[in-house]
Amino acid sequence: MKDFPSGILVPYAGLRFTSAAHAAAAFADETRSTYFYHRYGHYNPDLFARAAASLDQAEDGIACASGMAAITALTTAFVRPYEWMVSSARIYGGTYPLFANILPEERVVRTRFVANPRNLAEWEEKLASVERGRLKLVFLESPGNPMLEVYDIAAIAELAHRFGAPLVVDNTVATPALQQPLQFGADLVVYSATKYLTQGLLLSGVIAGTKDLIAKIRETVGVYGLNLGAFESWFGTTAMPHLALRMKQHSDNAWALALALAAHPAVKAMHYPGFQNMQERALVRKQMSGFGSGLLSFEVKGGRRAAWRVMNGLVKNGTAEIVPHLGELGTMAIHPASTTHAKLMPAQREAAGITEGLIRVSVGIEPSEKIIAGFTDALSIIALY
Ligand code: PLP
Repeated sequence: MKDFPSGILVPYAGLRFTSAAHAAAAFADETRSTYFYHRYGHYNPDLFARAAASLDQAEDGIACASGMAAITALTTAFVRPYEWMVSSARIYGGTYPLFANILPEERVVRTRFVANPRNLAEWEEKLASVERGRLKLVFLESPGNPMLEVYDIAAIAELAHRFGAPLVVDNTVATPALQQPLQFGADLVVYSATKYLTQGLLLSGVIAGTKDLIAKIRETVGVYGLNLGAFESWFGTTAMPHLALRMKQHSDNAWALALALAAHPAVKAMHYPGFQNMQERALVRKQMSGFGSGLLSFEVKGGRRAAWRVMNGLVKNGTAEIVPHLGELGTMAIHPASTTHAKLMPAQREAAGITEGLIRVSVGIEPSEKIIAGFTDALSIIALY
């Protein structure tokens, strides 16, 4: 990454040279040590990526136009036709079809999915099933969205390395404020920066890792035009200094709400990092800080009808907005079975734990008593009908 004064905003896509010789020298420089055209590199996205990467204690970072642009850049940079990836099956609903359908059809890149990413024996079996030398990337999302399961990053990194591939962790849900996968052996982290990194406001993505790996991705980003815009980058940079403060409040509130909802008679199941069992709680303590997540999911008794009534109650009493998104300052709820995961076959939804009564909540930074009172009020609807 190039050096430049911090805190500057340079909106131009075409950067200015002082003379014809200066321009010619920039184009001749194979190391690209001078910015000259936004698609190949620019002050603002680099400033944003550097701020995010430093929170991950990473050597370098690159900002992309969205989380999916970042994941596309990663797979394009590392996996050539007829090569393989191994990925957790419990990944974001946009990443899954990229790996399962688009990459095999368009780039002859195949993925073996680990159906139960908690099961290390299954990781080992899937990694071993790929022909030697053809495995190029291992992909994990932890905590997974929307079920908030937590997977053992150190153990999966160790397995990936044993089979000769780098591990990428999608750290969107935890952010570097609550989890730093590189410290547990991952080689790269990727973010939908559209979420917490930009306060949920601007479409963006970030990848962080070693200088060498990021350099490889930078080439791809430049050629395919996946770079983040100047204004989004500027905004992302301004949001970075208070990320830790926001994440503490999001996750403290989420934990308080999780406890209250788990004790509510209308709630059938609670999904939050470490809520499942003692083993998972120990993993949360080992690889995450604080309570680990500002996101939770819970299942109400009474299926879709009850879930929709609760959601409408939350809107009516002003506790949450219905948004298929996470990471804004305010509380947001979504019913995955009828929105984000509606296109899955019922059996696929069931296998992923996405029941008709499931509601996902991105818990905001409002006073927790207000949030809990609003959810209790909305849940009272179920008891009434
Ligand atoms: N990864 C996770 C965990 C996500 O939740 C999302 C989006 O919801 C993405 C990646 C894709 O990010 P974007 O929407 O910024 O392309």
